Amino acid sequence: MSQFTDIIEEKCPKCGRGKVFYKKGNPLLFQMPGMHDNCRVCGHKFEREPGYFFGSMYVSYALTVAEMIAVFLVAQFFIKSYIGMISLIAVFSVLLSTFNFRLSRMVWIYMFDGKKNRS
Ligand SMILES: [Zn+2]
Repeated sequence: MSQFTDIIEEKCPKCGRGKVFYKKGNPLLFQMPGMHDNCRVCGHKFEREPGYFFGSMYVSYALTVAEMIAVFLVAQFFIKSYIGMISLIAVFSVLLSTFNFRLSRMVWIYMFDGKKNRS
């Protein structure tokens, strides 16, 4: 499979079979996604060093800004008030927070630990 589908399906960057997350998380229940320390199939360690996922915050920031712009571009045809628009964007950013958390970590893992480094 391509790296793109492996990122979407949250598969291990080394073997492409093991799942990276064991829990998807739910922002409405204040549950964060749960991540395995090692791949259950090949044993690959996902967090290569302490603070490895610090950089994924930049990916998350870019994702969130892109989603906010997308929500704004669609909602501007329906919502005319400033407060309404800000509220809608805030609601979407909270609802998409766990999705962004997982996707940004997957993009980060594949950027520095992807299949091209497979031995
Ligand atoms: Zn693996």
